[in-house]
Amino acid sequence: MSGSNLGATKPNLSDQTKFCKHCGERIHLKAVICNKCGLQVEELNGGSSQPQIVINNSNMNTNINNNGGYGNKKDKWISVLLCFFLGVFGVHRFYEGKIGTGILYLFTFGLMGIGTFVDFIILLFKPNPYYV
Ligand SMILES: [Zn+2]
Repeated sequence: MSGSNLGATKPNLSDQTKFCKHCGERIHLKAVICNKCGLQVEELNGGSSQPQIVINNSNMNTNINNNGGYGNKKDKWISVLLCFFLGVFGVHRFYEGKIGTGILYLFTFGLMGIGTFVDFIILLFKPNPYYV
């Protein structure tokens, strides 16, 4: 009778235990530190996996925000023409979404024409389309 009892309990024991990868000692399945050698045998997956998902989500959110502020596709020749004809009013800056410098150009006639001239040269060397 006792022999059959042992046979019945042995599979249960092996379900609840594992072998330490450092010393080979049989330890509890959920143990993270071996009783015999004291070395860590398991990563704390339950605690670390969920924050990683949160970090990934926040990265995706910042990427979306970056695309809203930067990376807007602009047609080079529209900017060049706006800069050439209306650059002293900062219209090409408004087209690029740079409202602040657009207003500055509007009141200073494109930084007395110098800012508009520099922007025009820079725009000529930009790829088409370009991103701001
Ligand atoms: Zn061990």
